[in-house]
Amino acid sequence: MVAMTATAEEEAMDTLTALSGSPTQPMGAYPGPTKLLIDGKWVDAASGKTFETRNPATGELLARVAEGDAEDIKRAVAAARRAFNGPWSRMKPNERQLLLLKLADIIDKNMEELALLDTLDMGGPLSRTRNNRQRALGMLRYYAGMATSVHGETINNSLPGDIFSYTLKEPVGVVGAIIPWNGPLTASIWKIGPALATGCTVVLKPAEEAPLTSLRLGELCLEAGVPPGVVNVVPGYGETAGAALSSHPDVDKVAFTGSHLTGQKIIQASAGNLKRVSLELGGKSPDIVFADADLDAAVSGASMAVFANSGQICSAGTRLFVERKVYDEFTEKVAAYGRNLKVGDGRDPEVQVGPLVSAEQLERVTGYLAVGQKEGAKALSGGARLTEGNMGKGYFVPPTVFANVRDDMRIAQEEIFGPVISAIPFTDVDEVIQRGNATTFGLGSGVWTRDVSKAHRLARAIRAGSVWVNCYQAMDPAVPFGGYKMSGYGRESGLQHVEEYLNVKAVWIKTA
Ligand code: ADP
Repeated sequence: MVAMTATAEEEAMDTLTALSGSPTQPMGAYPGPTKLLIDGKWVDAASGKTFETRNPATGELLARVAEGDAEDIKRAVAAARRAFNGPWSRMKPNERQLLLLKLADIIDKNMEELALLDTLDMGGPLSRTRNNRQRALGMLRYYAGMATSVHGETINNSLPGDIFSYTLKEPVGVVGAIIPWNGPLTASIWKIGPALATGCTVVLKPAEEAPLTSLRLGELCLEAGVPPGVVNVVPGYGETAGAALSSHPDVDKVAFTGSHLTGQKIIQASAGNLKRVSLELGGKSPDIVFADADLDAAVSGASMAVFANSGQICSAGTRLFVERKVYDEFTEKVAAYGRNLKVGDGRDPEVQVGPLVSAEQLERVTGYLAVGQKEGAKALSGGARLTEGNMGKGYFVPPTVFANVRDDMRIAQEEIFGPVISAIPFTDVDEVIQRGNATTFGLGSGVWTRDVSKAHRLARAIRAGSVWVNCYQAMDPAVPFGGYKMSGYGRESGLQHVEEYLNVKAVWIKTA
């Protein structure tokens, strides 16, 4: 963790004390923003409605948040358009760069609070949300660098006479950003960062399950000096606010992260004005362990590829293919690893696995636990909701490893979005490539082997946007992330991410 100054640390701790309570003490009234951020002002929803957001570890009410719908989206898009047409998109690249760097510094100072907000609102343990510091700051500073790197090209054409051609890269315009609840801080930055770097403006719609961090981030954007209307934050439900944003005729691009079913709706909604769409959707990623791997490293790697964030990560390595000769030993070790993880209220810094985000997710995941058992899979660890003591008030599912899984079982095909591994044996390389690719998704994948030829072969053969060899879930702002097949299109992070927020204009100048 980066050291903070005594004052910043004290300030962060004051806020924390006010806001967090503890695993045994109820929290105080939430002091942060709960209204809509539109045009640099905090406003109520036009309908006057609010909705509750609760701590999934305890069921406690955290705050009532203004519930944006179509009317508020209309106001926010109008504000974003005005800001885009104003001086913002013509600001010099280095001015936007400085804003991004300033925002990074402000987030650095407030990171304890932001980590805690994620923990309170969506359940991810502090041991994880605090570790987002490097990722959050790294992204903002990367996009800051990109702000001064955007450029077109001079292109030789073959037309007769003196006619000169070059390209301009221009911001695409008003961006509707729709994010899920599984990592509110980093997901918000992943959308806002490239918009600020390129000169776009944003209407961010956080997930209804966890809107607080995005609102606080909006407040920090204002503190950093981001002009009014450049970043707007409108919490609300998917079917109302989300749908209004994705179908709005004056939105130029939608950047979406969420389920493939919603992704399909977004594409349909985008047809009205043919807005640009980028989609980061779900997955059912294969994680392939060969007998020649460093098996100890593979045990922890394969476990955390799914148990981290209670499995609520779209690229989680949930189909664990294990070479048959080590299958029994390896799956038992993964199950033991899971049993040893501390499950509980994420405010306890020792906790490694927090609750699922909501009662709805709990129902979905426990539904799959029942389906797995009914289909004949055997739970080597976990397998049922935890209800002892205070856990019954939250949505806790322990790390679960299913053995005896066949490819055609639903738990091997469908995205569960919980801490559930489906362990499947295999015997040879060709077979595992074919079976690993036999999914409609293609987001992440893992390969564990000491054989470099095998590693290269699988890296080419797997149809997925990321292949992690002898590691899992490595992420960096400079390295592109995204999907093949039904895991979506477009890339986030890396050079291509910024291109997604830019239009290319060809300019021809006849000089003679
Ligand atoms: P998850 O299963 O992770 O909740 P969703 O795709 O349902 O995934 O939600 C991701 C984001 O998409 C949330 O912000 C949600 O409000 C939003 N959303 C849900 N339905 C729609 C929709 N029809 N149009 C636009 N956004 C939606």
